[in-house]
Amino acid sequence: MAYRIIQVNPTATTNSRISVLVIYTGGTFGMVYEPQAGQLIPFDFERVLDRLPELNRLNFAISLLTLHEIIDSSNMKPAVWIELAQIIQDNYTQYDSFVILHGTDTMSFTASALSFMLEGLAKPVILTGAQLPIGVARSDARENFITALEIAAATEANRPIVPEVCVYFNSLLLRGNRSTKRESVQFNAFTSENYPNLANAGVSIDYNRPFIRSYLPNETLKIHSVLNPNVTILKLFPGITQAVVESITNIPSLRGIVLETFGAGNAPTDTWFLNALKAAVDRGVLIFNVSQCEGGRVTQGQYQTSKHLLQIGVVSGADITTEAAITKLMVLLGREPGAGQNDLLRLQTLLAQPISGEMSA
Ligand code: ASP
Repeated sequence: MAYRIIQVNPTATTNSRISVLVIYTGGTFGMVYEPQAGQLIPFDFERVLDRLPELNRLNFAISLLTLHEIIDSSNMKPAVWIELAQIIQDNYTQYDSFVILHGTDTMSFTASALSFMLEGLAKPVILTGAQLPIGVARSDARENFITALEIAAATEANRPIVPEVCVYFNSLLLRGNRSTKRESVQFNAFTSENYPNLANAGVSIDYNRPFIRSYLPNETLKIHSVLNPNVTILKLFPGITQAVVESITNIPSLRGIVLETFGAGNAPTDTWFLNALKAAVDRGVLIFNVSQCEGGRVTQGQYQTSKHLLQIGVVSGADITTEAAITKLMVLLGREPGAGQNDLLRLQTLLAQPISGEMSA
């Protein structure tokens, strides 16, 4: 697919020779109030400088690519993640870093997916968006966008400071695959309960260096652009029925389940429940145990109510988020399509290991 790329700030004094490619996907961010229609409508993002003239004061080059179809991120899907990964790969040598403007609703899913799809990434990919449209006076779009750009362009000794996929929002830089949207009204929309923030942006941007992924200068970017969509999330609740559980575990094409369990990874011990899971594992389905709690971690075997899961072959998700777990399953199953018994053991081992800092070992 061919895209039009324009330079947003042609009159800026771009003496730092850094260039950032902004990829605009849609979301609340790019809306403006249309008085005649009395509603919010997407505005022509190529005219972003009209709204944010201060972009001209940043001393690096900012280019803009708008996806052919602008979406509310509730319509996000693997095909768009593949498109984004492809755009990053196609422009990888021309640009020093990437900022993706994205709706907040599924931003953490996209950040997680890209972190698994972009193997060997050595440049910043910063996702951001806004809770209030750019056309609203009190919008958070301006601060989020400008700081995300500054973080994307930040270097030290000619190396990017943050060479990984991140979410920047409301003063916080988070590892993308550790982030979760937790708030739909306040500006502090994202949190990372199980991994420290990578930076805090106040008067200065303070980087939390020990927790930022190391720069890998000799890696070449390799994208994983096959994702297996035959996965699901099964959230447990007291009273869940056999019919509900089996309607999911018996889906013929299913290859992976994120099992959202209680507390430290606990689940009912009813025989019908364990049999349903065991039958799925025996058919080659990967089951990934993720806690419903935002903080803490799954420790299978700590309680009797999780020991059985371990015995069946359910894989512990440790402290992973649901967003990272489901996208990790899609990418892993896309990468390793084999469905035999030996493949299952290998996949269970791969699933249990961190791929890009999404879970603590
Ligand atoms: N529904 C919007 C979206 O995710 C919300 C937002 O952008 O904040 O695209």
